[in-house]
Formats: sequence, C-alpha cells, structure tokens
Amino acid sequence: MSSHEAGSLHAQGRAPAWLEVPQDVNALLAAIWPAHAAKAADGVLQVGGLSVTDLAAQVGTPAYVIDEADFRARATAFAAAFGDAFAGLGGAHVHYAAKALITVGIARWLAEDGLAVDVCTGGELEIVTRGGIAPGRVTFHGSNKSDAELVAAMAAGVDLIVIDSLPEIDQLDRLAAAGGHQPQVMLRCSIGIEAHTHEFIATSHEDQKFGLSAADGSVREGVARVLARPRLRLRGLHTHIGSQIFDAQAFGHAIQRMAQLTAQVDREHGLRLTELGLGGGFGVAYTTGHDPLDPVDMAGRMAAHVEREFRAEGLTAPHVTVEPGRAIAGPAGVTLYTVGAVKSVSLGGGFDRLYVSVDGGMSDNIRTALYGADYSATLASRRSEAPPRLSRVVGKHCESGDIVVKDEYLPADVTAGDILAVPVTGAYCHSMSSNYNSVGRPPVVAVRDGLANVLVRRETVSDLLARDLYA
Ligand SMILES: *Cc1c(COP(=O)(O)O)cnc(C)c1O
Repeated sequence: MSSHEAGSLHAQGRAPAWLEVPQDVNALLAAIWPAHAAKAADGVLQVGGLSVTDLAAQVGTPAYVIDEADFRARATAFAAAFGDAFAGLGGAHVHYAAKALITVGIARWLAEDGLAVDVCTGGELEIVTRGGIAPGRVTFHGSNKSDAELVAAMAAGVDLIVIDSLPEIDQLDRLAAAGGHQPQVMLRCSIGIEAHTHEFIATSHEDQKFGLSAADGSVREGVARVLARPRLRLRGLHTHIGSQIFDAQAFGHAIQRMAQLTAQVDREHGLRLTELGLGGGFGVAYTTGHDPLDPVDMAGRMAAHVEREFRAEGLTAPHVTVEPGRAIAGPAGVTLYTVGAVKSVSLGGGFDRLYVSVDGGMSDNIRTALYGADYSATLASRRSEAPPRLSRVVGKHCESGDIVVKDEYLPADVTAGDILAVPVTGAYCHSMSSNYNSVGRPPVVAVRDGLANVLVRRETVSDLLARDLYA
C-alpha cells in the first residue's frame, strides 16, 4: 500500500495504486455493499428491496440508509461466531459498541436479537434503555465520566462499569457509597499495543488518553485501590487496542499482555479474575483496498490465542467480551446524495479530475476529513454508457478539505440531479455528524423487504433554532 508502480499511477491519471479502473462503471463491487443491495437493469440502485430514487423522493437527500436485515445478520453472526469459538473455553459475549451508530429503533433490534451493548455516555445509555436493552446487558465505558453519568449508570443497574483512570476509582467509590450501590467493574488497561489497519505497534510507553498504563504501574496500583474499596467488585481487566484491525495477530499480542496482567493479579492478590474485555476494532472493507477476516475466522484465531496465553500463565481461560461497532453497522449503511455542481480540474500532464459536489459533506461524514478515510461511490439513479473518469466527491461546506470520496471512477457524464450512493457509511457517520454551516443532519432510514422505516427524521432549521434562545 505504501508503494506504487509509477507506470500504473500515471496510466490511471493520479489515482491511488489500489483503485482500479472499473470494467463496468455501473457495476457494484459486492464486497463493499450491504447484503441486500443491487442495481436493476435501468441502473437504479435498490437497497432492502427499495429503489433509491423512490427513497430519495420520499425522504430527500442526503439520507443515511440502513439495510436492517444486513445490520441484524452481522450482529447475530458476531454473537454466534464468538459464542461458538469460545464455548470450550470460558465462553464469550458480543457487546455492540453503540457509539458507531445508535438510535432507539436500532436499540430495539439489538434487544430483540439478544445482543448486549456498550455505551460511553449518559446519552447513549438513555437511548439504549429506551430501546429496551436490559441494563444488565449494558457495559458503561468512557474516559472522563461525569458524576451524573456514573450515578445514572448505577441507578439504571448497568452490568459493568469500565474504569478508565485512577481518579475514577475514588469518584465511583464516593458515588457508590452515597447511592448505596455495589458496582461491578473492570479496569481498562493501556498495554502499549496500538493496532490500526494492517499494522500494529507495540511500545512500552502509552502516549494516549485512554486507560491505566501497564508500563508505569498504574494497572497494578488500580487493582490494589479497587480491592481496597469493598463496594467496588472487580470482575476483570479490559483493553481496546484500536480500530480497523485486520490482523488477528494484533489481538494475539494484546491477549498475551492481558494474560500476564491477569496472572500478576493472581500472584499479588490471590484473586482469579473471571472476565477479560478485548474491545472492538474489527476492520471492514471501505474499498477494494481492504480485506477483513470474517467473524468466524477472527473468533477462532482469538480463541486459540486466549487458550494458549492463559495456559502459558497457568490460568483457566476467562469469559471474554468483544465490542464490535464498525464491523456491524458500517457495511450495512449507505449514504444517498444528490449531485449539484460538477467541474473538471486539470492535474497537469494531460490528466484531470472531476469534482462532483453533493448536497452533504463533512457534516454527515467527517471521516474523510478527520482520518483521511477512503470511500467509494456509485451513480445510483441511472445507467451510464459514458467512460469512467477519475473523480472526487466533495460536499457543500466552506472547507477545501470537505471531501466525501477522495478518489473514485464515476461515469464521465455524471451531472446535477443524479443520485450518488456511498457505501459503508453505517458506522461513525451519523454518530459523528454535525451542524456545520447550520445544515440539518440527515435522516436515518431503515429499509427491509421493500419497506422504509424512518428511525430518525431529518433535522430542520427549526430544530437548530429551537436551541437558540434569541431566535
Ligand atoms: C470505539 C470502541 C469500540 C468499538 O470500536 P469499533 O472500531 O467500532 O469496533 C469498542 N470498545 C471500546 C472500548 C471502544 O472505545
């Protein structure tokens, strides 16, 4: 990924090395579209049995469209894969990471399908409980929890609170005493492994805000402090090593460190911890440049690491939780946009790039601007016989970095009024959306078996003005 052949770079007109010129610019690449997405003979994209032109007419654009059956199938596939792979060990549970995408309607799906959920704010807790998730199936995370959030979590009766810092131990103990609670806790450990995409870095220092450092003794100190406070019941240790992880080996290194820390607690306190949190971060294919493991494969490899590393420490395997967010929500979502201004810009050397402006942008998908994320797009409202042109899909906001899709081949005749669809936008798009330039945020629409179900309506200017006390 870091190198390219100069020849192919130039032949493709300044496209990145992974981006191939499509044989058929109308075709969908199955790996990056929801399970129930296909193009009809007239080129119109169908999702969940609905044509996107009908959907756009009904709810407008931009719109987040979620393939409900695909979302739910991914969630239950994760639960089954980890349940099966760890059945001979201490068992495993899957907690959906609500921060990726959560609405009350989605919480209902998760409740119906028996998933547990992770939240990290009082707002997320309120949404999931309104959706009918039993508090006993909720874990509360967060790197800077307020008193009000911890009180709300304990009052609701959440199953577990994941403590993120040494001061939080005293904070939680004080609040537990005041409310007469005895919360079960895990300690989030920062173990010097940072995994991202195809690489992971193992270091002895942890230069980031999350968790208690294993290297500087904070984990040891945290365990001792929790055990000295009888109201707090320590169930285990937790770590979350990153996002967009494709390599089970990164989890293998994390599991080895966590087994060592668990053994240290056993040695120093004679306490057998029964729970191990391994976080989320399972990678998804945003483009053809990514090739994730399926959950069965990932779960099997992780179970093998848990078995080996805990045996090496002379411990029985603990019960494991994993917390996928992106891998469940991401691939199930598509964003629809309407094209506005289109212009061609010369890149020199006889190459040019089509700038295709859409009616949304960094307010509904910040990931491209924030992380340099790659996406793809397709012309979704008609067939085109025009040749592919290297294009950049840009938004309507007042930033030159307001890019939705950096590089994609779109038909050369893409024009105002066309609908574009961007896949793999189910995770961290709606949940990170903003009102930049005072735009209203798009609706979240679930589609299934030819029916559309608006989970969250479009935000209006009146919604924005409702908070402005001088309006
Ligand atoms: C963000 C986060 C997750 C989910 O990460 P994904 O990349 O969406 O799978 C899980 N656990 C914790 C503690 C997190 O912070």
